[in-house]
Amino acid sequence: MPHQYPALTPEQKQELADIARRIVAPGKGILAADESTGSIAKRLSSVGAENTEENRRWYRQLLFTADKRVDPCIGGVILFHETLYQSADDGRPFPQVIRGKGAVVGIKVDKGVVPLAGTNGETTTQGLDGLMERCAQYKKDGADFAKWRCVLKISEHTPSRLAILENANVLARYASICQQNGIVPIVEPEILPDGDHDLKRCQYVTEKVGDVPRVSPACPQGVPEVSPTSPMCPQVLAAVYKALSDHHVYLEGTLLKPNMVTAGHSCTKKYSPEEIAMATVTALRRTVPPAVPGITFLSGGQSEEEASINLNAINRCPLAKPWALTFSYGRALQASALRAWSGKKENTKAAQEEYVKRALANSLACQGKYTPSGQAGAAASESLFVSNHAY
Ligand code: 13P
Repeated sequence: MPHQYPALTPEQKQELADIARRIVAPGKGILAADESTGSIAKRLSSVGAENTEENRRWYRQLLFTADKRVDPCIGGVILFHETLYQSADDGRPFPQVIRGKGAVVGIKVDKGVVPLAGTNGETTTQGLDGLMERCAQYKKDGADFAKWRCVLKISEHTPSRLAILENANVLARYASICQQNGIVPIVEPEILPDGDHDLKRCQYVTEKVGDVPRVSPACPQGVPEVSPTSPMCPQVLAAVYKALSDHHVYLEGTLLKPNMVTAGHSCTKKYSPEEIAMATVTALRRTVPPAVPGITFLSGGQSEEEASINLNAINRCPLAKPWALTFSYGRALQASALRAWSGKKENTKAAQEEYVKRALANSLACQGKYTPSGQAGAAASESLFVSNHAY
């Protein structure tokens, strides 16, 4: 039955669905190059480069102008505000350069995380004020999709019900505003890998956030104090999809950007890519409607190789998968390239070669066809974990 107060016309829906499908076309994923000025400062300083506007422009140009081998691998590029308005050496604005290589231009529209008072260090994400106007302008300036990142933390008493519901609601509100302006929202509820929790707990929290099971001496398996089927127990992804539905968001015109289900960074037990894949796909199948065209994982501090191998295992997982399962990597596409560049123009070609290597690897991985060559790049097997990661 048609909705009484339709949020979008059939033409608007068609446009959104087409954009989303183009981004996650077979073999394609997303380059997340939307580090804020503060985050890129840390990346640049890690290779001894100064955080100047020209260095930021040069480094991004190097990625966006890598040769045509990357074209079948990259369906979308997420930019930070400053980058959307910068140009390549030949004078072409970056959005034109990116579109010229067959990719869709994206823009980070959130304004960062802020504390949720009265919680154990939990946060929400700000940036709704003026978002309608900003989206309208970004659309005119060439952006067809957007990103908004929310952060959830696993600890004994988190994520809390408040953090789950607040972040789900703000993501839904953002998604609704984007769609009103012809922009496909990437919905990103990132559960941080900080902590020593095991794989099972991460899966539980990903699916069933809210009143998370406590591990107690009487109950070493961490049996929930509140039944997961209780209406008192919202689930992370379930809460997100409930909020998107409440806000009349058109799912065919959205993408989800979740964490893979992995053990915490300091967990002593190691899991195989197949175990990570099974936990991840199981959690997604239980929560993400098949109307969503694509799930584009963040790399979340995994090494470049790990992120490719795990994505490959996810695509080979023997469960039915109704969505495209691909990458939207920042660190895991850029670490070797950044290191090879090290702020020196003469290293541009070498840096581009490293980026091409990762783009090709992930393009194969999102089709379940990646076999590690043993010829990984400079930083390929190094952990890219940053505690309490900001973007
Ligand atoms: P990482 O792949 O480095 O985790 O970042 C992706 C991203 O866009 C986080 O918002």
